[in-house]
Amino acid sequence: MRAFTFQRVTAAADAARAVAAHPGAMFLAGGTTLVDLMKVDVLTPDTVVSVRHLGMSSIDVSDDVIAVGANVTNSQLAWHPVVRDRYPVLSEAILSGATAQLRNMATVAGNILQRTRCPYFRDVHASCNRRHPGSGCDALDGFNRGHAVLGVSEHCIATHPSDMCVAMVVLDAEVHTVRADGTTRSILFRDFHLAPGDTPHVEVALEHGELITHIVIPHLPAARRSHYLKVRDRASYEFALASAAVVLDLDGDTIRAARLGLGGIATKPWRAIGAEHFLSGRKASDDTFRGAAEIALAGAVAREHNHFKIELAKRTIVRAFAAARDAKL
Ligand SMILES: Cc1cc2nc3c(=O)[nH]c(=O)nc-3n(C[C@H](O)[C@H](O)[C@H](O)COP(=O)(O)OP(=O)(O)OC[C@H]3O[C@@H](n4cnc5c(N)ncnc54)[C@H](O)[C@@H]3O)c2cc1C
Repeated sequence: MRAFTFQRVTAAADAARAVAAHPGAMFLAGGTTLVDLMKVDVLTPDTVVSVRHLGMSSIDVSDDVIAVGANVTNSQLAWHPVVRDRYPVLSEAILSGATAQLRNMATVAGNILQRTRCPYFRDVHASCNRRHPGSGCDALDGFNRGHAVLGVSEHCIATHPSDMCVAMVVLDAEVHTVRADGTTRSILFRDFHLAPGDTPHVEVALEHGELITHIVIPHLPAARRSHYLKVRDRASYEFALASAAVVLDLDGDTIRAARLGLGGIATKPWRAIGAEHFLSGRKASDDTFRGAAEIALAGAVAREHNHFKIELAKRTIVRAFAAARDAKL
């Protein structure tokens, strides 16, 4: 175990200042990502600043939005009665992830900032541009069955692992932060995670030391008819091979508007805007959903072992929309 300094603070701006003051400092919430990665030397902070005593742990519901504190646990958010009622897609996405024990410990901010499960990222003896910029990417020609087909680059094909984030991106949630100088800002979820491009090590639109304080989810009446479908190698305690978060606004059997997010196949929580446009005004049939799926995957780039994900994702999209359409509200 490497030695590190542990700090506990009681004000959000102090936490931001404490991390901003040290290039090697990191926030600690539930620890289910950070401590795991410290044990295998992938993350080696010299200072760890605990945010668990900052509050930021309430879920505040109004007519227009739900504001979710950064330290709310995954379980608290998933089981909140208003979330289950107004945003089934979010509740289902969270409950499909990890295990009950992990969800009880894991926080919302930590989930958003969890790191890829790419085995080459998690192995310090492998080449990984995300972990060690410029070192190469062993996944490109390695065993890449679990890797991404959307948003990939020649420098990284690591999949973003979160389920919750796929629902958040579909709901147009906003991430609210405070910086070391005390200024605050909000970042649309769609813009929060970054595709790897030439800089895979830059994963999110945060400055060093910028603290997530809460997430705001706008009220979306159509989200009552929403669904998260996750396809994976085993039924629980497993990351997605492909997943779809869908919202369907119906007028009889015609689609007034639809939203589509994809997980397990992309380098960031993926929003399929082109597919959404295709769906609006069409009949809510399986053929229509298949047409949207073709558009959503049109730009997919597969490697040696993950080609199956393209067809798997298309079928996942069709099934998710069909389930939302057929749901008895
Ligand atoms: C075995 C296992 C299986 C899993 N399966 C799934 C799954 O199927 N689906 C899924 O979606 N997830 C899964 N997860 C991931 C899990 O959801 C995350 O590990 C968890 O949400 C992280 O939250 P945490 O509070 O423990 O974060 P921590 O580990 O404490 O922190 C994670 C990151 O967030 C940063 N951070 C924390 N709070 C803040 C803040 N307020 N502001 C800025 N930065 C902050 C930390 O510095 C760190 O970089 C799994 C995890 C494990 C260990």
